[in-house]
Amino acid sequence: MSDSDPYVESDDPITISDDDSEAEVEGSSRLTSGSPSPEPVETSLGAAIRSASHAQLVSIMLELCKGSKSNASTSEIVGLRLLTPIKPTPSQPMQGRKRKRLETCKHCHEEYDIITNAKGDCVYHPDEKDVDDESSTWDDHDERCHGDPYSLMDDPTYEDGYRWICCDKRGGEDGCVASRRKPAAVASAAKHSRH
Ligand SMILES: [Zn+2]
Ligand SMILES: [Zn+2]
Repeated sequence: MSDSDPYVESDDPITISDDDSEAEVEGSSRLTSGSPSPEPVETSLGAAIRSASHAQLVSIMLELCKGSKSNASTSEIVGLRLLTPIKPTPSQPMQGRKRKRLETCKHCHEEYDIITNAKGDCVYHPDEKDVDDESSTWDDHDERCHGDPYSLMDDPTYEDGYRWICCDKRGGEDGCVASRRKPAAVASAAKHSRH
């Protein structure tokens, strides 16, 4: 274990809500409609382990096997990596609740650490791609043998054959919006009130 303690409160370590505004494209309210960040959900260490990616679990196993000089137990070490305290709020004033530290971004679908999640980490297009009929990509394209362009959107071979509706950039170009990463909707949020 290093001395870097992820529980240390920096100026804004785990606030992941209320930053929709920074993700807005000029004048667009598209992003804010229906996408408030979900309330943090209390999570057990077991649930956090089950939801962590293979890469994270490998990294944690390696750390455990290196042998820690500290007296921290295995669950403490793993807990530091996978859980983080939920800040008490007026509506949820209870102390000591923990939430998952790793989330999957709903925009870029990458796993990220909510503690180090910084502005600009997520670069994405807020809208869909559409087929660009004027693209030379489709000049010799025969749908009967190559496939319907609408079914090839995720195929990098054809990325120049599409444009992003949000910014009119070509399909393969980097996102037009940069923001913090955002958690995907939490499926278990509805059950939270039972605790
Ligand atoms: Zn993202
Ligand atoms: Zn875009």
